[in-house]
Amino acid sequence: MTYIVGEPCWDCKYGDCVEVCPVDCFYQDENTLYINPDECIDCDACKPECPVDAIFPEDEGPSYDETNCKHDAQHYIDLNYNFDYEGKDPVTSKDEVEHGPDWDEEKAKE
Ligand code: SF4
Ligand code: SF4
Repeated sequence: MTYIVGEPCWDCKYGDCVEVCPVDCFYQDENTLYINPDECIDCDACKPECPVDAIFPEDEGPSYDETNCKHDAQHYIDLNYNFDYEGKDPVTSKDEVEHGPDWDEEKAKE
């Protein structure tokens, strides 16, 4: 089991979550953060830190579906599983959370 980063993360710049992860398993691209399912130890430390409730346990996906997101939980589960983690450094502090030049709030919500 792993925790998953869902849709509300797509417009967050704060990264409160990454600083509490004991195994440094958050990664990012220009749009959002991802949790590496192979590294997450299911400790629940990050979930209460997220100000927009973007993080959910994989097996609680159905309750996440009830929120007002455009995509269902499975969409974000797939994104977290399919992100290419190979060779990338984890994000471990707020200062490292950044959006790239292509980041677009409206596009992120599509
Ligand atoms: S706290 Fe972390 S998971 Fe939550 S929205 Fe911000 S960067 Fe994303
Ligand atoms: S549940 Fe624990 S190990 Fe998994 S991403 Fe959150 S803080 Fe890290």
